[in-house]
Amino acid sequence: METIRKCLECGEVLHGRSDQKYCNDQCRNTFNNRLSGETNNHIRRINRILKRNQSLLSVLNTKGRTTVKRDELLKKEFDFNYFTNLITTRYGRVYYFCYDQGYSPIDGKKVLLIYKEMNKEK
Ligand SMILES: [Zn+2]
Repeated sequence: METIRKCLECGEVLHGRSDQKYCNDQCRNTFNNRLSGETNNHIRRINRILKRNQSLLSVLNTKGRTTVKRDELLKKEFDFNYFTNLITTRYGRVYYFCYDQGYSPIDGKKVLLIYKEMNKEK
């Protein structure tokens, strides 16, 4: 049984080979350009959040290690959903990093901030 295939861009019914996805090159290009545009916008948005998180932490953490109230970060619109990587210590403490700035929740109300030199990774 043959299923009806439609152009991913304009929705026209396709009559070509079974792997055909678009009516023509123009539809293919339009589709791909829009897709990569949306992906790039999404990436840019996340990069902005990460950069913003990093700079908020670096402003608060001038000594390389400090404790702040979670509320203080939330007030400055720190976004806890975004981080670049996480590290779990052998004692089970989890540090969330935004590039070189890391934080670890202490008791639900406080956050421990730490700093890690980027070029001393490993
Ligand atoms: Zn088309």
